[in-house]
Amino acid sequence: MQKDKIQELNHIIHDSQNLVFFGGAGVSTESGIPDFRSVDGLYHQNYDYPPEAILSHSFYRSHPAEFFRFYREKMLYPDAKPGAAHKKLAQWDLAGKLKAVITQNIDGLHQMAGSRKVLELHGSVLRNYCESCGASYSAEYILSISGIPRCEKCGETVKPDVVLYEESLDQQIMKEAIYYISKAKVLIIGGTSLAVYPAAGLIEYFQGDKLVVINKSNTHQDSSADLVIQDAIGKVMEQLGE
Ligand code: ZN
Repeated sequence: MQKDKIQELNHIIHDSQNLVFFGGAGVSTESGIPDFRSVDGLYHQNYDYPPEAILSHSFYRSHPAEFFRFYREKMLYPDAKPGAAHKKLAQWDLAGKLKAVITQNIDGLHQMAGSRKVLELHGSVLRNYCESCGASYSAEYILSISGIPRCEKCGETVKPDVVLYEESLDQQIMKEAIYYISKAKVLIIGGTSLAVYPAAGLIEYFQGDKLVVINKSNTHQDSSADLVIQDAIGKVMEQLGE
């Protein structure tokens, strides 16, 4: 049965010249980046607060040292490499089939794989900016020092360009995501349980032909999807054609 579904997905992709992919943490788990929201994720590991509390704007302000301890240990994976899903999407991009990748991930792996249009709803750990003068810093810089990272030019805190809880999403990126989703003929949702809003709400803008959901567990879009494959996104993607 799974084989039939893979075949069906192959047909859908083969026939479409306007695919959009919407992905989440599951896309990067095989690259060794854990989903901090999953039950066997990062809970109760060396920290006095749950990840959602640490990764909030108010915690960042009130406990910056603890924030950066968690951030360096749990959010930065400098050796991570693109997995099967990242690579397949980049191939489709190169072939002109895939118009955009919309991701909730912050690891930059889609760009590393070669995808050209990547809309990062929650920002990227690869970009960091001084809160005062705006000077930009790499993730390597954040990793190379300990404690609260300070700007080499003005001494202020260097903040990762990541959307923390309590912070709003970049409106320009949201606009672009809505544009691509509303124009797409095929929307593939992969490696996300669609639990995080407002990102998950973007799916409502889809009005194309085929909605495909590939995820290990159920999502609330399964009932409206044309094709649901309940499996790891990387495992499914590596079985697909070009
Ligand atoms: Zn500065």
